[in-house]
Amino acid sequence: MNIHLIRSSELSVQTYTNVLNLLLKTQGPLKYIASKNTDWETINYEKDWITEEQFKKSEQTNFDEERHLNYCLERPMFSEKVTYSAVIEDFPFKEKQSTWDNLFSSCETYRKTYAIPENDLVILLTDISNDKNWFGSVDQTMRNVFIQTSNWSSFFGSEIDARFPIAYEVVAWVMRILMFRNRYELSQLLHLQPKGCMMDFCEHKSQIVLKMRTADICGDCLDHIQARDVNRTALNQLLETMDGIRSNILFRERSTVLNRPSRLEIRGYMKRIFLVDLGDLEVRLNPKEKTLFLFFLNHPEGVRIVDLMDHKAEILDLYKRFSRASTPSLIENAVDLMLQPTDGNINQVLTRIRSKFKQTAGDSIAGYYTIEGTRNEPYKISLNRELVNVIEN
Ligand SMILES: [Zn+2]
Repeated sequence: MNIHLIRSSELSVQTYTNVLNLLLKTQGPLKYIASKNTDWETINYEKDWITEEQFKKSEQTNFDEERHLNYCLERPMFSEKVTYSAVIEDFPFKEKQSTWDNLFSSCETYRKTYAIPENDLVILLTDISNDKNWFGSVDQTMRNVFIQTSNWSSFFGSEIDARFPIAYEVVAWVMRILMFRNRYELSQLLHLQPKGCMMDFCEHKSQIVLKMRTADICGDCLDHIQARDVNRTALNQLLETMDGIRSNILFRERSTVLNRPSRLEIRGYMKRIFLVDLGDLEVRLNPKEKTLFLFFLNHPEGVRIVDLMDHKAEILDLYKRFSRASTPSLIENAVDLMLQPTDGNINQVLTRIRSKFKQTAGDSIAGYYTIEGTRNEPYKISLNRELVNVIEN
C-alpha cells in the first residue's frame, strides 16, 4: 500500500522530513511517499482569529456528541483548559483554522492533481487547526487522513521532538485503516478507558504519552486484526515503527536521569552528524557550524577562542570540504573572518550550533554537544568521546 505524506506550508520542512525519515526506517509492504509538491497550499481557512467564546464552543464539542455523528478519533488538542491557558494567555489569538471538509478536500485535490491511485492513502500533515479541535481524522472513503502537527509541545513540553507524536499518529491511522471498513466500525472499537493501546481515545496529555510509551495493541484489537485478516507483514512494519518511537521516548526520559546523552555518529565524506539513540536524527549544521563543531570534537582538551588562529590549517582543511565558496582565497577569507579574536563572528556561530542541538536533542541534553567555555579559558565539547563514532564512507 502506498501512503502519500503531504504537508501544508505552515509545517516546517525539517519536521516533515524528520517524520518521513523516521517512517522510512522500516521496510515492508507499506511505502511512504514524499509529497510531490513541497508546499501543498490548497487548504481554505475558515477564520484567522479565535475568540475565547469560539474556543469554549469548540471545547464543548465533546466525544459523546461526536460519537453519534459517527466521528471517531483523536480528541481535541486543548482538552485540558489548564494546559491550554498555559500556552495562550490572551484571547483573541491568531490561529489558522479550517473545517474537516476543507482538509479532506485538500487531500482530494492532491489526488486529482497527481493522479494518485484510488487505493493509495493520502495523509495531510498540517499546522492548521480544525473546527472540531481534533488531532486527526479520516474521511468517509477511509483513504484521506489529516493530522494536526502543531502544538504538540503543550502536551510534551519542549523536550519532545514533534516527529514522534506525528509519526505515531501516522502509524496509528494506517493501522486503523487496515483494521476497519468504515468510520462507524472504528468508533465502535475505540477504547474510552485508556489502556495503553493504539485505539485509546485520548482526552488527556498523560493518556497520549501512555499510548506512545506502551506502543501496544491490546487483546481486543488483536482479535479484531485477526478477524479482519490484516496483512501480517504490514502489521509487523507498523509495530516496528511504534517500537522505534517507544524506545526513543524512553531513551529521552531516562537520559536526563541517567545523565547519558545519545551516541553521536559522523558519517561519510561530508561528515553528516547523527544522534544515534534519538532515532538517528540528523543535526544539520551549515559549513561554518560543522567546521567548528568537528574541530572542537577533535580537541577534547579544549581550545581558547584567542588561540583558534593557531589551528587555522586544521580548521581550513575542514571548511574546504563543506564550503560552497568557489576559490581558495574566498574560503580562506571566510575562515579568517570567523576566527578573528576581536571582531570575528565566532560567537554567532557558537550560538547557532547551540540552538540547532537544542532543536534536535532537546534542552536537557543539548549541552553535551555544544561548544562551551568562559572567556580566556578553553572552550570544549563535554561529550564523552567514547560515545562518538566516525564512519569514513
Ligand atoms: Zn485496543
